[in-house]
Amino acid sequence: MMKTSKITTLLLTGVITALLILSGCSLEINPAPESNSTPASTGGNLRVVFLDVGQGASQLIISPSGKTMLIDAGNNDKEELMLQYMDQYGITKLDTVIGTHPDADHIGGLDAVINHIPVGRIYMPKAQANTKTFESVLRAVKNAKLKVQTAKAGISWEMDDEVHVDMLAPRRSYEDSNNMSAVVKITYGRTSFLLTGDAEADSERDMVDAGTDLQADVMLVGHHGSKSSTTLAFLKRVHPKYAVIQVGADNTYGHPKSVILNRLKQQGVKVYRNDLQGTIEAESNGQKVTFRTER
Ligand SMILES: [Zn+2]
Repeated sequence: MMKTSKITTLLLTGVITALLILSGCSLEINPAPESNSTPASTGGNLRVVFLDVGQGASQLIISPSGKTMLIDAGNNDKEELMLQYMDQYGITKLDTVIGTHPDADHIGGLDAVINHIPVGRIYMPKAQANTKTFESVLRAVKNAKLKVQTAKAGISWEMDDEVHVDMLAPRRSYEDSNNMSAVVKITYGRTSFLLTGDAEADSERDMVDAGTDLQADVMLVGHHGSKSSTTLAFLKRVHPKYAVIQVGADNTYGHPKSVILNRLKQQGVKVYRNDLQGTIEAESNGQKVTFRTER
């Protein structure tokens, strides 16, 4: 029995091989579907997605060749939503994850993401929090056999050809957790994005005083449009064409504040908001940035 079946297998293999050679087939008969290996095509563009996570923040960055970065992941109750977004954008691995600071509206959903998607490396500032949220992120990091690298000014890397990432803050230690926020600038060709976390006036002043190149076409408005951030001096140095406010409808903080909205208006900045437009996608071809909104 064994012998016969072995001979049959051999014969069959021979016949199939002969057929393949005759038909000029290569061995890649069943290539894996595209969506399983690369994120949703960006058409050679850099895509920065301001995910609608209600009151909270999360930005997904996909480079022209499909490198991926996630900055923050919304609050704890957005874990399922974050995994849905990862699925929707075809994210099967994250090269870099950044938790800007330990507040729940930024790192709440990070543990679920790290538990479900392979992560290359993770950055967080040197700031502790005695919260279950913070502990669960650290546990997820440990389970994924990752080690948190310190987010601070001066760290930079090439995310892709012509896509450069610079961490501009925190420049020092602050008592306030918001000021400890990792601030990230992404440059692609002639276009740039400044993602500010919840950095407040102190951190903004330190970046301005240090002579940091802050100019960016697109700015994430600091601290959800709170009046603690987006000082005029900082805004003038960034000199954005577009600003995005990550904020939930009817939030209890009254974000964004009208003083900040007026300041942006006076500087001629076009504003996009998650509470009004849902998820906001910005796309750069290296020359200019275009926007698409969910609603
Ligand atoms: Zn926040």
